[in-house]
Amino acid sequence: MRLVFASNNAHKLEEIRAIMPAGIEVLSLRDIGFEHEIEETGLTLAENSKIKASTVAAFINDGMSASLNDGMMIDGVFADDTGLEIDALGGEPGVYTARWYSRSHPSDMYQNSVLAGSPRALRSPQKLKFSGAPLTEQEIFAANRAKALRELSGKTNRGAQFKTVITLIRIAKNETVQVEGVVRGRIATEEYGQGGFGYDSIFIPEGYDKTFGELPAELKNCISHRARAMEALVKIL
Ligand code: IMP
Repeated sequence: MRLVFASNNAHKLEEIRAIMPAGIEVLSLRDIGFEHEIEETGLTLAENSKIKASTVAAFINDGMSASLNDGMMIDGVFADDTGLEIDALGGEPGVYTARWYSRSHPSDMYQNSVLAGSPRALRSPQKLKFSGAPLTEQEIFAANRAKALRELSGKTNRGAQFKTVITLIRIAKNETVQVEGVVRGRIATEEYGQGGFGYDSIFIPEGYDKTFGELPAELKNCISHRARAMEALVKIL
């Protein structure tokens, strides 16, 4: 079986390939020649994962994939959307997990603003020009983690969960199915560990006293939100 994973996130692709059982080949968007940004305009994780999967399925159905024109058969497309839901913040950032910091500080998403003008930007953002290179993925992850630690500063209720919704579209049947996976845990009081990506270095999964950033990748790939959603996906393949 050959499936396309509708994401440009290299970290996720690596995890998905490590979790997927042998015999199921996972192609990336690059493998099928899909080079567009997909706007996540949904209001829920389920909507966003469906937007991603259906955009790529339409690309394949329209015969726009060069690989497909070469006779490569694709059985389905799947996409995941993940949110961090923090109990003390009423489930925030949820669907806005990737863009949490940038939603409140758009001017800070450019290197000049952050490096040279951050305090000024916070006082009078309207006067600051958005200039310089956009922040790197790693810088965006760091800004989001710092926001989580700030928002929970002094709070004892640090409970949180990661939720992943996966949408699978079977190309031949044009059938859409959704599954989800959740891992409960808590937000650490500071960053620990270099592994993983995103919020991994501040998230301690239930039953452990180390963050996903410190725990081995093999363990994360057994107990994570994505691993649980993938387990549910594999059952219906
Ligand atoms: P997406 O919208 O599903 O691509 O993911 C939203 C954001 O959630 C990402 O940009 C990461 O910051 C974060 N995220 C997703 N999966 C994980 C994970 O496994 N560990 C830590 N952070 C994650």
